[in-house]
Amino acid sequence: MAKENLVVCGKCGGVNRLPPSRNARDAKCGKCGSKLFSGHPEDVDAQTFDRQVTRSSVPVVVDIWAPWCGPCKMMAPAYEAAASELEPHVRLIKLNSDNEQAVAAKLGIRSIPTMILFRGGHEIGRTSGAMTAGQIVRWVRDHLPTAAA
Ligand code: ZN
Repeated sequence: MAKENLVVCGKCGGVNRLPPSRNARDAKCGKCGSKLFSGHPEDVDAQTFDRQVTRSSVPVVVDIWAPWCGPCKMMAPAYEAAASELEPHVRLIKLNSDNEQAVAAKLGIRSIPTMILFRGGHEIGRTSGAMTAGQIVRWVRDHLPTAAA
């Protein structure tokens, strides 16, 4: 029996059930009508971050950044390019560590940018320092079974 995918909306945090046959790239959120995968990594707050990591059946990458961090800003276009390549098999989100200091502390963030890959609510990879789009995509795929990436 085919399992349905649980996709958490990047805009409103609503949990959407998608049959695997459905093209998730075109799917819209049942709650707010936004595209579930826009190719644009959404900034999340503590609550949305938690929902993405714990409720999504899609692997989630979070980029922990801050507005004053030069390398973070440099990496933003690369992260965006990686999102359009990896979605809808992987969800990419961003967390502003200035706004969400408690989350950053809980994650044990020591330097930014740091990217963490979650699958089924568990951290399965972590890397620090700015990367190119190609490096981000490769890093994510290296940590996931081929079928998922
Ligand atoms: Zn929504």
